[in-house]
Amino acid sequence: MGPIAAIVDEVRRHRDDGILQIKEAHEKGIPIVGTYCGYMPWEIIDAAGAIAVSLCAKSDEAIPAAEEHLPRNLCPLVKSSYGHALRGSCPYFHFCDLIVAETTCDGKKKMYELLDRIKPVHLVQIPQRQDRPEDLALMKSEFNRVCRRLETLTGRPVTDEALAASVALRNRERRGLRALWDLSRRDNPPLTGWEVQEITDYIQYHFDKKQALVWLEGVTETLRQTEPERDLSAKPRVLVTGCPIGGVMKTLKTLEESGALVVCFENCGGQKEPLKAVDEAKDVMGALAEKYLTIGCSVMSPNPHRMEALERLIDEYDVDGVVEIVLTACHTYAIESHSIRERVQSLGKRYLAVGTDYSPGDREQLATRMGAFVEML
Ligand code: SF4
Ligand code: SF4
Repeated sequence: MGPIAAIVDEVRRHRDDGILQIKEAHEKGIPIVGTYCGYMPWEIIDAAGAIAVSLCAKSDEAIPAAEEHLPRNLCPLVKSSYGHALRGSCPYFHFCDLIVAETTCDGKKKMYELLDRIKPVHLVQIPQRQDRPEDLALMKSEFNRVCRRLETLTGRPVTDEALAASVALRNRERRGLRALWDLSRRDNPPLTGWEVQEITDYIQYHFDKKQALVWLEGVTETLRQTEPERDLSAKPRVLVTGCPIGGVMKTLKTLEESGALVVCFENCGGQKEPLKAVDEAKDVMGALAEKYLTIGCSVMSPNPHRMEALERLIDEYDVDGVVEIVLTACHTYAIESHSIRERVQSLGKRYLAVGTDYSPGDREQLATRMGAFVEML
């Protein structure tokens, strides 16, 4: 096995280590705080002395349980999150002391009302616009409220010094992940998109952040200096956008099995959050509010940051086409896909919108559509 294959193999063998780390932290009395969204600041949870864990659910097995309380015609991500909480089948949720949730899409914010019956939920009111001074003021005041709630949970004050240290660490992670993805800008990248995403997930669920970053930086350097072990240069280069990547594993895999090379993920779970760092030169709470408010999610109206990010990434990663994933009943991404199509096509690139859910039933249909798209590229 060559050094690149060995890195991928190591990540696959240690994929579930995070569960053990969270269990050990819980046993030591360290509070665990669950989140469901890119708008929730990891830095504040870390500065309060708790461990933040992302709870976006990715599988369909908990959906039937969720449908006993929720409508069937609801986004699978919302149903899966709730179903796992209800059944107690998410080990991370099991160890959580508090959920810090947010008012983004209607499905999630109404689901949180029911979730609060299972675990305490602190709901952060996210503005629906990003460009007015009052939006920034609301974000900042909501982040201050999160600080107070976490201080009550952990008994530790959230100081500016602690926040600044957490910001520096998280910015280092953002730089590290971007450096890993940057390898996909090469004509012949060392990893497929699926493999990059496996490493990204591994980092997200490794809770000793400093140790994980040393590993990530070392691995990226090895990948940078090692001759690629496969020739991926002839494959059409695709950027994936749309609903969070956690819900699209079958789509990503099917796309690459259809002959494409996914060189960039604009989705949450991919590059959407790490694209912009927190400005370490500014007042820390203001800088945090400013950074998180600029995340380009379709729940914002208007949503210029997503469009700007897409244009930049299409150019930087030299993509041939864009595939947009729209989960069933996700109205905001579904409606925004019309504007995304127009913009992508105006740049001379091909575009495909794929509607799907978490069930395996449409895999063949997806393969046919994606195969036809990849052939066109
Ligand atoms: S897509 Fe939007 S609502 Fe969903 S996790 Fe990302 S930022 Fe939050
Ligand atoms: S994919 Fe869409 S509907 Fe589902 S949780 Fe995210 S924003 Fe809400």
